[in-house]
Amino acid sequence: MNIRKSFTRKNDNTGVYVSYDSIEECPNCKKALAPQNLYGIVHLKNDKETLSVADFCNGCHSLIVSEYEISKKIRRTNSNGTVEYDDKEYKMVSLNHSAPVNFKEREFDDKLKKLSPQFVKVYNQALKAEDFSLDEIAGLGYRKALEFLIKDFAIYNNPEKEEEIKSTWMMKCLKEYIDNEKIKTLAEKSEWIGNDEAHYVKIQDDRDINDMKSFIDALVYFISMSLIVDDAQTMKSKKENAKNE
Ligand SMILES: [Zn+2]
Repeated sequence: MNIRKSFTRKNDNTGVYVSYDSIEECPNCKKALAPQNLYGIVHLKNDKETLSVADFCNGCHSLIVSEYEISKKIRRTNSNGTVEYDDKEYKMVSLNHSAPVNFKEREFDDKLKKLSPQFVKVYNQALKAEDFSLDEIAGLGYRKALEFLIKDFAIYNNPEKEEEIKSTWMMKCLKEYIDNEKIKTLAEKSEWIGNDEAHYVKIQDDRDINDMKSFIDALVYFISMSLIVDDAQTMKSKKENAKNE
């Protein structure tokens, strides 16, 4: 929720206003936090305008400390192009971090864990990086996790091609060894976003790590469903046996 609140600016002890997104999920207990803002101060940190705030979590009764990068709002742009800033109004640039963080691994279905233990491991490392605000690393991690999931699923469907699948590009693997269109689309689009995470220039600039995560969630769902259907198909009728008894 975007809120506007007054805080004291440390360097001149003046009251200023900051518009920023308050924390909605407690980093410690992961519950939606009705943020009870206790204290905050505007100060310079490493030459950057910073807002540090303390909130109280009503779920786990912990004190949550968050740090935001902020900047002065523009009051007006003059006809000659020069910009005048408002000295007392700030806006949020980014949330740097929130602490304490109590990391909880994500649980996956047993069938999926068996299909791709590496996916589960790498996904949880990426999630941990994200929880600790290492977003640049997290994106790469999700991209790597995706590759394990897709390749392990392709190997599961084509066990005789295992060596080939392991050493081929993920996109080629999708085209040649996976026939479910939904899985193909989701994996391909996740790969697009994932590649941006690894390169200097971002191509999909309207998409981010959250889109990739929701595509991976949907992939996990479709692949898990496929594993359940395969399991159901192995069931044999026991009627014949029952008749003979
Ligand atoms: Zn909490």
